[in-house]
Amino acid sequence: MDRMTGVYLPGGSRVEFRETAVPEPKHGQVLLKMKASSICGSDIRAIYREHVGEGAEAYQGVIAGHETCGQVVTVGPGCRRFHPGDRVVVYHICGCGVCEDCRHGYMISCRSPLRAAYGWQRDGGHAAYLLAEENTLVPLPHSLSYTDGALCACGFGTTWEALQRMGVSGSDRVLVTGLGPVGLAAAMLARALGASVVIGAEVADGRIRLARELGLFDEVVNTSAAEDAERTIGALTGGRGCEVSIDCSGAAAARLLALRCTAQWGRCAFVGEGGRVDFEVSPLLIHRQITLYGSWVTSIKHMEDLVDRLDRWSLRPERTVTHRFPLEEAAEAYRVADGGQAGKVVICFDEELEG
Ligand SMILES: [Zn+2]
Ligand SMILES: [Zn+2]
Repeated sequence: MDRMTGVYLPGGSRVEFRETAVPEPKHGQVLLKMKASSICGSDIRAIYREHVGEGAEAYQGVIAGHETCGQVVTVGPGCRRFHPGDRVVVYHICGCGVCEDCRHGYMISCRSPLRAAYGWQRDGGHAAYLLAEENTLVPLPHSLSYTDGALCACGFGTTWEALQRMGVSGSDRVLVTGLGPVGLAAAMLARALGASVVIGAEVADGRIRLARELGLFDEVVNTSAAEDAERTIGALTGGRGCEVSIDCSGAAAARLLALRCTAQWGRCAFVGEGGRVDFEVSPLLIHRQITLYGSWVTSIKHMEDLVDRLDRWSLRPERTVTHRFPLEEAAEAYRVADGGQAGKVVICFDEELEG
């Protein structure tokens, strides 16, 4: 095993395969055999179609894939926690390790030039092996599959963080706008945290169908008619709206729907990336006493909490997976993920291909 094939995303909705050397772990690093490497909305939005990212989202022509999970093959000198054979999820950003954000475990927010995200600025998981820093690894409980783990590395972690920040509990009805993989994650986790009613809102037919099939929602509202959606959600909540709402779409109309359907004194989070939104601040936010959260990924500590809770609750993120592809079919995997109708799309290796 000294050569491997990696998947690169040169832009223009193309996928390229290149052969490269299998890396050797240096001090504090481990070599992982990749088992699952899922595709995130950010990969599509900022890399696959065109390279639009800047700063933390600038793609540096590396092996793609930032939602990764695998098994430790070899460890470099100085590793203190992980050993060959360990099953691990990879927190997808390596920070400088010494700034305030890194010390809180939010390497996502590190502003050092040393910060590098797997699949963006350093090689990611779309290859047979991944060179990872030991301090970005989270142990994967045995009740979870590698595919479950990959989904926690970004999407499930992101919704977990937002729901934690909003303190979701059994007192809350939760509205999720945008029912792609992140929205499905939000519903699964909100329910596990005790939310009494979970309502979904989505515009794409394929995703409405999938959300209904999965049974994660009490009601899935078709938002192709915006005013009707607001009325329907009002009717479902005795005219109050939901105590908590979370937009997972990044679309202006869905963000507005989430805000409008948040109950007075409620909490609303935006986790869907990109785009803009314009609204009248006084009637929609201030006068209704709403707390609006921006929330970006999660901390490594909260990711470790997440996999622990999934284990305790016997919850399997891979329920949201609709497509698995071997690495050789990465082009088709990206095409399906870009279609906006699927659930989660995962590039799988070995036994994970069977699901
Ligand atoms: Zn992501
Ligand atoms: Zn840092």
